[in-house]
Amino acid sequence: MSTLEDGDNEAALAPPPMSESPEEKFREFLAIRGEKLTAPRRLLVRHIFNSHKHFDADELVAELPSDAQGRKVSRATVYRTLRLLVEANLLRELRLTNRTAYEHDYGYPSHDHLHCTECNAVVEFRNDALRKLRDEVSREHGFRASGHRFVITGLCPKCVRARGPRRRLDLV
Ligand SMILES: [Zn+2]
Ligand SMILES: [Zn+2]
Repeated sequence: MSTLEDGDNEAALAPPPMSESPEEKFREFLAIRGEKLTAPRRLLVRHIFNSHKHFDADELVAELPSDAQGRKVSRATVYRTLRLLVEANLLRELRLTNRTAYEHDYGYPSHDHLHCTECNAVVEFRNDALRKLRDEVSREHGFRASGHRFVITGLCPKCVRARGPRRRLDLV
């Protein structure tokens, strides 16, 4: 089992080799639907696959660079492109308690998450026992599992420490 946190050292889970770039995969997905990889879509897919992290749509809008004319990709385009990237299996949607986050699906090993409801930290982990349990439960019900959602919510160690004394006072 390995863990990694949002932030600088996000590369702890070794990605499997990618046969095609995310941009190529997205172009093919769009072509099947009769759509084009427009300049804003290309900018988005490049920007998103530049670094692995968990992000929500508003964070993405805020950090997108403007073009030479100072124009930014519109919020509507960002939302629609995110939906398309999820449909194309390039991004995975992560429903957390108070927000919907996105992360790379293509070229990144499957894993589960812990979510701190106080500071919003997202920690990744892999656990084979959990996967076995999922397959076992599926078999019992005649299912063939293709995926699952499992998010542990609670407080991260930092927030537990920050809250500890106050909580104890609350109980007095
Ligand atoms: Zn926290
Ligand atoms: Zn993740």
